[in-house]
Amino acid sequence: MTSVPCIALIAHDQKKDDMAEFARRHRSKLLHWRIVATGTTGGRIQDAAPDLNVTRLKSGPLGGDQQIGALIATGEVDMLVFLVDPLTPMPHDVDVKALMRLATVYDIPMALNLATADILMQTLTA
Ligand code: PGA
Repeated sequence: MTSVPCIALIAHDQKKDDMAEFARRHRSKLLHWRIVATGTTGGRIQDAAPDLNVTRLKSGPLGGDQQIGALIATGEVDMLVFLVDPLTPMPHDVDVKALMRLATVYDIPMALNLATADILMQTLTA
């Protein structure tokens, strides 16, 4: 890739600690990426690894998932890590599904749990 690649990071509330730990664990690789994140998730990532390049969008329930979906549709996101909580009902469940659908339509690598996210990061050379 010639330009800086972009990874979208989102975590539901029960998964935010996992996302903060993920950012710390993979900080050296994520330093080479532009990160877009939903609002609260982005704040947690910035606290966990302040030198990462994080653009915070709206909070998920207020449209952040849809903003990331739009970035996927315009080709600006290369990879998605979306740590979902399957045990809690979400007011924005339709937005969550729409985002997963767009990541599938545009065939970008998408991890929905920590185990897969770690494997995705291991595939990155830098
Ligand atoms: P948040 O949004 O990072 O603003 O909490 C995530 C979500 O619930 O989709």
